[in-house]
Amino acid sequence: MNTEYKIEQQSSPNHSSRHDRKILTIVDHITAGKYPGCLSWMQNPAAKASAHYLVTRTGRIIQMVDDRNASWHAGIVNKPSWSLYRGENPNRYTIGIEHEGYGAQGGDGTLTEEQYQATLWLHRQLIEKHNIPIDNDHIIGHYRIDSVNRPGCPGPNFPWSRLFDDLRNGVIDVALEKWMIESGEDALDELARKGLINQPDTKKGEENLAASVPAYLFWMMLNRLADYKGK
Ligand SMILES: [Zn+2]
Repeated sequence: MNTEYKIEQQSSPNHSSRHDRKILTIVDHITAGKYPGCLSWMQNPAAKASAHYLVTRTGRIIQMVDDRNASWHAGIVNKPSWSLYRGENPNRYTIGIEHEGYGAQGGDGTLTEEQYQATLWLHRQLIEKHNIPIDNDHIIGHYRIDSVNRPGCPGPNFPWSRLFDDLRNGVIDVALEKWMIESGEDALDELARKGLINQPDTKKGEENLAASVPAYLFWMMLNRLADYKGK
């Protein structure tokens, strides 16, 4: 899905310094209350809680804390199952994403489709921006940091496998597209060197590639891409 999202800024005073720690991990959460109550709570100094982002059930993305600062989403560590925990406040080296839950208890982690697509997009942006690997130490649920008091955050139905599949396939798609264009251009250069086509410099780019590569060659490339993706 190619929907472009806009990140709305609604800042919260509940943040502090990262103490120069590098961002390692995205931590996913579910809110106990619904929007907009959950947002105003995380903007209230009395809450002493926040997150960098809130993704609502209608698919809006709201940023409360700049990525460069530590938001207060995962500070208390209790029987963690997270290999990157370093014995210091996790807020300093994580990014917190809250997802609007439903009902008073936040629900079981089921997201709406709009909410899923928005958080997928947001995860992609953050992974790209902060060089975060796509694995289950670098993208985790809050329960991995506090398994005692937050076992249901973000909940048993949070779509982990769909999220990881979509994130991985997205990265593979981008790499394959780049490879297809570059190797397609190489193929054109070679055909030009052999005198089979003219003016390769005017045939750069994706659209021109499709128009100028002979059809059988294009199908061979697509077949190889399909084989590769199936692995
Ligand atoms: Zn949480």
